Amino acid sequence: MRVGIVGLGLIGGSLGLALRRLRHSIDITGVARRPESAAAAIQRGAADRASTELSDLADCDVVVIATPIDQIAGVMDRLAPVVTAGTLITDVASVKRPVVGWAQRLPNPSRFVGGHPVAGKTQSGLEESDPAIFDQEPWIFTPTQGQDVRPFDTWFEMVRAIGARPSFMRPEAHDKQMAILSHLAFAISAAFAETAQRHADPTLGGPGYRSMVRLAGGDPAMYEAIARENREALVEAIDRFDAVLHRYRQRIDSANKVKELFGGAVHAAH
Ligand code: NAP
Repeated sequence: MRVGIVGLGLIGGSLGLALRRLRHSIDITGVARRPESAAAAIQRGAADRASTELSDLADCDVVVIATPIDQIAGVMDRLAPVVTAGTLITDVASVKRPVVGWAQRLPNPSRFVGGHPVAGKTQSGLEESDPAIFDQEPWIFTPTQGQDVRPFDTWFEMVRAIGARPSFMRPEAHDKQMAILSHLAFAISAAFAETAQRHADPTLGGPGYRSMVRLAGGDPAMYEAIARENREALVEAIDRFDAVLHRYRQRIDSANKVKELFGGAVHAAH
C-alpha cells in the first residue's frame, strides 16, 4: 500500500515511523514545506522518500494531511488536481468541522474522511516524533451524515495495527468533546501560568505547579489555530468551567464544605 503524508512534524513523522515499523509492504512518500524537513524525515526513517512536491503523491492509495490546520484548505486545493478520483484522503487535525467543510472542494468528497488521533506531546516538531504515541489512544473519525466509510476499512485497520483505537462520531460532536477534553485544558493551563507569573514567583513552584503549566508550554501557533477554528465550542466550554470554578470559590469561601468539595473532585478524576 502506498501512503502519502503531507506534513512531517510530530504527528506526520510519528505516523510514518509507526507505519514503516508495521510492514515493509507499506510504502511512505512524505511531503513537507521546507526541503530540510523532507530530508530530516528520511534521515529519521519516517518516510521512504520525501520532497516538497505534492505531485509526488499522484500514485498514492491514501493521503494523510498532517499539516497545521491553517494549511489544510490550501493543501486540499493543491492536491485536487494531483490525486486520482479513487485516492482516499484523510487528515489528523484537532478540529474537524471546518476540515470536513473544506473537503467539499475536493473532486470526490466521498473519498475524504476526517480523522483525529487523540495523541501527541506538549512539543511539536519532527524531532519529537515517536511511533508509540498512538498506542492505546483514541483515533476519532468523523464521517458526514450518510457517508459510506467502507472504502476506508483498510486505513482503519492500519490505525488499529499501530495501536490506536478507532472510533466514529459526527464532526460537530467531536469538536464539542475536544473543546472540553483538550482545548479547554490548554486554555486553563495558559490562564493558570499567566496568573502564577503575575501574582507569584514561579521559581518556587514544585511538581504540582509544573503539571499545571505543562500544556501552556506547547506550540502557541497550534493552540491559536485550534481556538480560532473551534471558537464557539471552546467559549461554551470555558463558560461551563467558569461556572464550576465559581461554585468552588463559593464553597471554599464558606469553608465548611471544603472536604466534600475536594472529595468529589478527586472521585471524578478516577
Ligand atoms: P508540527 O510538528 O509543527 O508539523 C507540521 C508539519 O507540517 C511540518 O513538517 C511542516 O513542514 C509541515 N507543513 C506546514 N505547512 C505545510 C504545507 N503547506 N505543505 C506541506 N507541509 C507543510 O505539527 P504537529 O504537531 O504534527 O501537528 C500537525 C497536525 O496534527 C495539526 O493539524 C494538529 O492539529 C494535529 N494534531 C496535533 C497533535 C499534537 O499533540 N501536536 C495531536 C493531534 C493532532 P516544515 O517543517 O517544512 O515547516
